[in-house]
Amino acid sequence: MATAIYPGSFDPITNGHIDIVRRARKLFSKLYVAVVANPHKSPLFTVEERVDITKAALAEAGINGLEVISYDGLLIECARDHAANAIVRGLRANSDFEYEFQMALTNRDLASEFESVFFMTAKKYSFLSSSIVKEVSMYGGDVSTFVPSSVEQALRRKLEKKAS
Ligand code: ADP
Repeated sequence: MATAIYPGSFDPITNGHIDIVRRARKLFSKLYVAVVANPHKSPLFTVEERVDITKAALAEAGINGLEVISYDGLLIECARDHAANAIVRGLRANSDFEYEFQMALTNRDLASEFESVFFMTAKKYSFLSSSIVKEVSMYGGDVSTFVPSSVEQALRRKLEKKAS
């Protein structure tokens, strides 16, 4: 029975991420959604907020039976600590491929016991990213088709706080 870990910034989680989680959940007997504490991009939400938002969003989407965790440092160490066999990632446009390819090969060099598994985005989410959601939200746009309502509320609260 395989255990997988789905790492990401999740700043915040979107319907595109949720679609990947739902599909990965069907393939793996155990799935961890792992929020990276210090992503290479500077996040809008703290790691604690991103974990809470991710948990609420997955509950709202009716996805149970998985764990949301956070990690700092090397992904492969986190994967080892949780006895994972696979690393799940999502692929959208061409632009994702280069980065994901590099990460997968680097992770294999560092730890050959993990297999990287890629899920192709759903057509309707192929241009959806956390950055787009934040940008639309920042200018007061409606993001209700991109994220669950709990995420929308968290974004509103955060942006109001930042503006005050
Ligand atoms: P990271 O900073 O690690 O790329 P993200 O939260 O941006 O973290 O993304 C985590 C993973 O989810 C990545 O593999 C990314 O390609 C994938 N992903 C993000 N948005 C989507 C989407 N709309 N459809 C499919 N995969 C996605």
